[in-house]
Amino acid sequence: MKAVVYDGPKSFQITSVPDPEPASDEVLLRVVLAGVCGTDLHLHEGEFGPTYPLIPGHEILGEVVRTGDAVTGLRPGQRVVLDNTTRCGECAACRRGMGHFCRNLAAQGVNRPGGFAEYVTARAANCFAVDDLPPETAVLAEPLACVVHGLDRVALTPGSDVVVFGAGPTGLLLAQLAAHSGAGRVTVAAPTPAKLAKAAEFGVDRTVRLDRSDPSAGLAELRALAPEGFDVVVDATGAVSVLEETFGLVREGGTIVVYGMAAESASWPVPAYEVFRRELTIIGSFAQLHGIERALRVLRSGRVRTDGMITHRFSLDEYPDALAAVADSSCLKAVLAP
Ligand SMILES: [Zn+2]
Ligand SMILES: [Zn+2]
Repeated sequence: MKAVVYDGPKSFQITSVPDPEPASDEVLLRVVLAGVCGTDLHLHEGEFGPTYPLIPGHEILGEVVRTGDAVTGLRPGQRVVLDNTTRCGECAACRRGMGHFCRNLAAQGVNRPGGFAEYVTARAANCFAVDDLPPETAVLAEPLACVVHGLDRVALTPGSDVVVFGAGPTGLLLAQLAAHSGAGRVTVAAPTPAKLAKAAEFGVDRTVRLDRSDPSAGLAELRALAPEGFDVVVDATGAVSVLEETFGLVREGGTIVVYGMAAESASWPVPAYEVFRRELTIIGSFAQLHGIERALRVLRSGRVRTDGMITHRFSLDEYPDALAAVADSSCLKAVLAP
């Protein structure tokens, strides 16, 4: 089969590799769509713990081709999305119910073969049937599951005033789910007018244009919007320049959520006295944990909208173009259709 195969940071080939064989508790999937996201850009740089050789791709929609002997709940022809992570259940983290920190975490597309290929195998237990959802909606289940986890972490107080920095796929999903999780008002701040228009179309209460090179006007607008500060300030960009602004925008007793993935080497100065005196909370959220089922329910209900979110589609051979697209502000969400 054809696949994108990395043998080191920034070093990949689009090449032919043997077809994978499903174990008895696994299924063989033909990859229908695989989302390309910011995490893949970090993996391309060698960050986020890749194991080589690596076939990336962790947001996978596939069609069952064949099932292993022990698989009973799935049949050929069904479409499924994957929980790309498998936990050992035995390490210290797993035994504390924190399986996303599993010391032996197997993550397809990170340290196990992923979906930037014609075929992929997966444990049947990790598959969720999605025949009832359009493919371009279903493929967003994994990123939305990560958002579900982020909101689990925040434990939003009803009526909260929430601002989300970033109007990429994550920002748009997060802002919408926050609105449906009890927020009293949701504002999205981002540089790209077309993405802000999408946020408004999806029902976000306020949008604020934030010019990356000169954010002063946008920040002033945000401060005018919430003179006492926002209850929850979410960074869905991973940009240190955004994180630096969060303290000036969060209310006393408020919460800053570090949701976007920063470079591994990035750091930002935290005013210790302000955290102490204003009783601020800083929360991280890096992955999903048992969130796919809830994400699918939200997608099925239509509460979180995804129409028009996928703006770029590429073949496997066009993988370099897909990477370039994800790095470009004109792209909202890119997928590979192997
Ligand atoms: Zn992703
Ligand atoms: Zn474990």
